[in-house]
Amino acid sequence: MEKYDVVILGGGNAGMGVTVPTRAAGMSVAMIEARDLGGTCPNGGCTPKKVLVAAALAIHEIEEADCAGHVANVEGLDLGTGVIAHREGHIEIDDHLRSRSDPDVYVCGAAVWNSPQFSPVATYECGLVGRNIVDGLRHRPDDGQIPACLYTVPDLASVGLTEANAKEQGLGVRVHVNDIAGLAIRETYAETVAWSKVIVDETADRVVRAHLVGHAGFRALP
Ligand SMILES: Cc1cc2nc3c(=O)[nH]c(=O)nc-3n(C[C@H](O)[C@H](O)[C@H](O)COP(=O)(O)OP(=O)(O)OC[C@H]3O[C@@H](n4cnc5c(N)ncnc54)[C@H](O)[C@@H]3O)c2cc1C
Repeated sequence: MEKYDVVILGGGNAGMGVTVPTRAAGMSVAMIEARDLGGTCPNGGCTPKKVLVAAALAIHEIEEADCAGHVANVEGLDLGTGVIAHREGHIEIDDHLRSRSDPDVYVCGAAVWNSPQFSPVATYECGLVGRNIVDGLRHRPDDGQIPACLYTVPDLASVGLTEANAKEQGLGVRVHVNDIAGLAIRETYAETVAWSKVIVDETADRVVRAHLVGHAGFRALP
């Protein structure tokens, strides 16, 4: 049987990214992909969804006048045989993205149980996995402030701590809710709904969260 330094299971965003640092370090790498190289994002997720949303938006605007869940395929991997602890489609991991039960197994992307299920997050995590394999355990994920957008019509975009999270962290917060539909959005985009909620840390006078509902809301948040 041929042996490799690294074996990557799945050729999606997460698996692809592990190849870069490991190959650059001269390691031998094998990738096993059961279906479509590239994974969910280009073949059945982000890209086709945005095409559909663009079409829906175009129809909406012409007439003047919502995405599927994604669960990593870990149940079919017979993880019990490898004694890899997992639950509800996700593998339990430590701070360095290694399986809690088998430190030779790294996990990134959709199979990570506690990170947001976004393609750029998968890409970020796979880079950390590759660098941890090459450099030793130096890199931990920091989910920090990840902006997110629900590509509905109109969009729902958000970034930062939720009001509940901010309160859990003991922050005194001020909440500003504004109906901003009057800002010429109706005339320009035939969109009748535009709304914002901004949460401010009272002590630091700093925005800790912003939600925006409205046309191209995702463009307004960093
Ligand atoms: C409808 C939809 C829309 C989405 N839209 C967005 C978006 O707009 N923005 C965004 O950031 N994220 C979006 N996502 C999430 C994004 O697709 C995922 O975060 C990203 O694909 C995760 O990458 P991954 O490599 O972990 O998993 P995947 O991309 O799912 O790759 C896993 C790969 O592993 C393969 N595989 C599985 N089991 C095995 C096995 N036993 N043996 C060999 N190969 C196997 C699969 O065939 C697949 O190719 C969307 C997801 C869906 C479902």
